[in-house]
Amino acid sequence: MNSTLLRGRTLSFVRWPQTLEDHSAWRYEEDGGLLIRDGRIVAAGTYADVEKQADETVKRIDHRPHLLLPGFIDAHAHFPQMQIIASYGAELLDWLNTYTFPEETKFANAQHGRRIARLFLDEMVRHGTTTVAAYCSVHKASAEAFFAESHDRNMLNIAGKVMMDRNAPDGVLDTPQSGYDDTKALIKEWHGKGRQHYAITPRFAITSSPEQMEMAGVLCREHPGLHMQTHLSENHAEIAFTQELYPWARDYTDVYEHYGLLGKKSLFGHCIHLSEREADALSDSGSVAVFCPTSNLFLGSGLFDYQRFRRRDKPIRIAAATDVGGGTNYSMLRTMDEGYKVIALNGEKLNPFQSFWQTTRGNAEALSVVEKIGTLDAGTDADIVVLDARATPGMRLRMETVETLAQELFLLQTLGDDRSVREVYVAGRPAKADMSAG
Ligand SMILES: [Zn+2]
Repeated sequence: MNSTLLRGRTLSFVRWPQTLEDHSAWRYEEDGGLLIRDGRIVAAGTYADVEKQADETVKRIDHRPHLLLPGFIDAHAHFPQMQIIASYGAELLDWLNTYTFPEETKFANAQHGRRIARLFLDEMVRHGTTTVAAYCSVHKASAEAFFAESHDRNMLNIAGKVMMDRNAPDGVLDTPQSGYDDTKALIKEWHGKGRQHYAITPRFAITSSPEQMEMAGVLCREHPGLHMQTHLSENHAEIAFTQELYPWARDYTDVYEHYGLLGKKSLFGHCIHLSEREADALSDSGSVAVFCPTSNLFLGSGLFDYQRFRRRDKPIRIAAATDVGGGTNYSMLRTMDEGYKVIALNGEKLNPFQSFWQTTRGNAEALSVVEKIGTLDAGTDADIVVLDARATPGMRLRMETVETLAQELFLLQTLGDDRSVREVYVAGRPAKADMSAG
């Protein structure tokens, strides 16, 4: 029997924490236990209680004094952009034309795709992220590479080949028909295989012709259970160009609305410059706005209005993400640190419980996978991150004056990165230690 008993300070969320004192929003055990069997958490609670359910054959791992949380979830990233992250001096459209599109042409080569997919998932795991909603390149081979690598590691990931048939170099274009056919074939091969989820992925309105947008809508109707991911309202030049390409549309969101792409499993990256009508349309359809703070700051795109979206009469569902390689860090800790600052520039705050809720349960809810991941509840998959708030000399020194869990979490978010990630479990298997050994 394949069982493990983890011991440590466990933290998992039940719902959105309104304030720092909203204790019933989370479950925290100072001496917690997690019993894992065949990749699932079968018991969670105090170590004393959980330990009673473990027999002698169980492998025991003591992570005290570190924190055990659900593995982080990244709701939007581009795996083919690892070698253009940190490219200087462009706003969105220039950035795509100068760096992104030429880089993504390389992914016609399946071997290159497999190598980068491997390094990308290594990097995710090293930073404590156990699930990512990933964009592949336009090439079918890139999605095959990503899913093969993800499946080998038994990770729950969501991904899709981008559909794009105009306004980019030939090397990264498909056609409405080939985009449709390749997507169909990938869904058939990968969706539901192990822990893999396929996302229908029209890159954005600018790089898809109306015919292709039509096909994306057909795919969504043919596969109503699938995710759909795209970009929306990131930058003013992008919005203006979209309006030129779709002159009949009331606004940018209306383009996606028209083709039937809004819905509860639809993930819209950025959503920075939305009108009230657009925000209502996202809310009414249950669509998800994906907050990508490091990317939005790096490309100078604007400030996502997190708290206003939550508070409005028609609230918008929100996820948080790195948006690597427009984003500048693989770490969800670094992401939420920048997120805190973006929210502060809007005159608001995001408290540390809210922040850690967002990267775990909040993102799992936004991706409609909370039955499987995002908590430490019994019955869910054992994707777990082990966090050390004393990972560097500076953090150790600051920890001397930390008195509460909230302060510790805020320190982890503000100063932490991959050095704070002591171990990561993917479906119950230690994944970080394995990696450094290999
Ligand atoms: Zn993106």
